[in-house]
Amino acid sequence: MKFLLENNLSKLAKWLRFLGYDTEVLTSSISPQVLSKNQDRVFITTSRRWERTLRKVNIRYIVVPRHDWELQLCMVIKRLSLSSELRLNLCPECGAKLKSVKKEEFKDRVPPKAYESAYDFTYCPRCDLLLWKGLHYERMKKMLSRALSKCD
Ligand SMILES: [Zn+2]
Repeated sequence: MKFLLENNLSKLAKWLRFLGYDTEVLTSSISPQVLSKNQDRVFITTSRRWERTLRKVNIRYIVVPRHDWELQLCMVIKRLSLSSELRLNLCPECGAKLKSVKKEEFKDRVPPKAYESAYDFTYCPRCDLLLWKGLHYERMKKMLSRALSKCD
């Protein structure tokens, strides 16, 4: 399942990418043209204003509440029965596929303490972003389970 998000949903986009879902964020405003080019994606918006257009264009969509990314994520995962496993295979910033890299190659970019204990280093060539699993990975798992408890 692939997603297209309204541009005020960048935090939700990040989390959908953490879960491995191909997610694009609109950089332009919503228009029937943009929507009809993306019929293979589920559109996520915070506004009911576009519902008529969305039905006309025949794109699948979900309306989520504003401002609460935890509730947004919870609703999207549960309504669409998405997997809530943190796959961490896509860049959270741009959505490109992350490349596995050896930590030795990036030694100068990792704080010494993290370098000792971190593992699964990945790199986004498009953003020049280096990621790894470490303490924050455990925190992310907790954040995710807290988000999932926000809706039924
Ligand atoms: Zn990137």
